[in-house]
Amino acid sequence: TLSDRLADTFKNLRGKGRLSEADIDATAREIRIALLEADVALPVVKEFVGAVKERARGEEVSQALNPAQQIVKIVNEELVEILGGETRRLRYAKSGPTVIMLAGLQGSGKTTLAAKLAFWLKEQDKSPLLVAADLQRPNAVNQLQVNGERVGVPVFAPEPGNGVGDPVAVAKASVEEAKRTLHDVVIIDTAGRLGIDAEMMKQAADIRDATQPDEVLFVVDAMIGQDAVNTALAFQEGVGYDGVVLTKLDGDARGGAALSVASITGKPVMFASAGEKMTDFDLFHPDRMASRILDMGDMLTLIEQAEKAFDQEQALKAAEKLTSTGDFTLDDFLQQMQQIRKLGSMSKIMGMLPGMGQFREQLDNFDEREIDRIQAIIQSMTPAERENPKLIDGSRRLRISKGSGTQVSDVNQLVDRFFEARKMMQQMAKGGGVPGMPGMPG
Ligand code: GDP
Ligand code: MG
Repeated sequence: TLSDRLADTFKNLRGKGRLSEADIDATAREIRIALLEADVALPVVKEFVGAVKERARGEEVSQALNPAQQIVKIVNEELVEILGGETRRLRYAKSGPTVIMLAGLQGSGKTTLAAKLAFWLKEQDKSPLLVAADLQRPNAVNQLQVNGERVGVPVFAPEPGNGVGDPVAVAKASVEEAKRTLHDVVIIDTAGRLGIDAEMMKQAADIRDATQPDEVLFVVDAMIGQDAVNTALAFQEGVGYDGVVLTKLDGDARGGAALSVASITGKPVMFASAGEKMTDFDLFHPDRMASRILDMGDMLTLIEQAEKAFDQEQALKAAEKLTSTGDFTLDDFLQQMQQIRKLGSMSKIMGMLPGMGQFREQLDNFDEREIDRIQAIIQSMTPAERENPKLIDGSRRLRISKGSGTQVSDVNQLVDRFFEARKMMQQMAKGGGVPGMPGMPG
């Protein structure tokens, strides 16, 4: 399988210290195949792989990850970015009903989606109204009514027996109806053709103009693969839309359409639909789709674990240094402070470090500016003073305070704290354990 093939390439890379041009090329080739197999459109693949190579070249070599993992991580991050980064939420109207219009090819899943969306909104205490503005196919209105019944949401439709209704008039009237009956969201289902069609596009644009939707959603079948791009572009030009909904993700499509459409139109994918049940519907999550497209969920989990383990190791090393002694100088003291700062910013993982729980409170109360001040003071000392702080008499303290832009009292306090810390280090070295973080600013 693809995953295996990628893993093979990565096996070759494992253990290398840095990303060589050949490594990047070999991996880029596999990523390219992976994306094409996921049905991502070729121009999108080309641009994407180019961007990834560029970034891989510029990237500092990670200490936590092997080169293969590092490239996969880059690929994943770029995918998530193109897919919209964060989940894009619905924008509701500030006053009056929020109008959501669905557009897309016939069979893309609009009518099914209308009901799913209505159900989803209902669960969030909205009061949606479904609107049957697809009067093209004889059965379309009925299909929406059946779906509406399933989710317990009323359907606004032209009166039966009035001949062929005018979908624009129906859509327009539905917004008035929603105001009158106090529905706060209007979901307009529209007609589609099997192929892109000027008349259909004009009808959709007319419905849009008549109802001024808050959101126009382009509904696209994830299974159509490469065709998604042309369809998305045609609808962007003919109707325009704010977001994309991907349907039929329960099929075996890897979701390349999501990447193609998002990349080419610049519009976010907002919802994902994955099944025939009314509950098979959710907000779209770029990170989940990225790992689906890449088909490398396991690799991503490994990467996450490797990074976590690395952070933990670094924190442990820093903690070890803190408790080791030797000739403890002001340079060491400064280094410790900087390590504590690092630890502080990693305080989330502190709970995982044995014996570090006791520092928790101190780390939480830690003042970053304090470290900057300590750093400024120590850096204003001569090497001899740092090596042997006993040298630091009154006139030196005045000079240091001036040099570091602090008060003499700050210098006094620091020197006192240093001696205190050193005493503590010596006691610990004699075998007293860790009484507390030495030299922690209060
Ligand atoms: P429309 O022509 O755009 O309104 O599309 P429909 O809502 O009528 O859907 C066309 C077909 O696709 C129907 O048979 C639906 O049951 C099916 N369908 C819609 N959404 C999904 C989905 O997420 N997964 C699957 N497997 N089928 C779906
Ligand atoms: Mg339909």
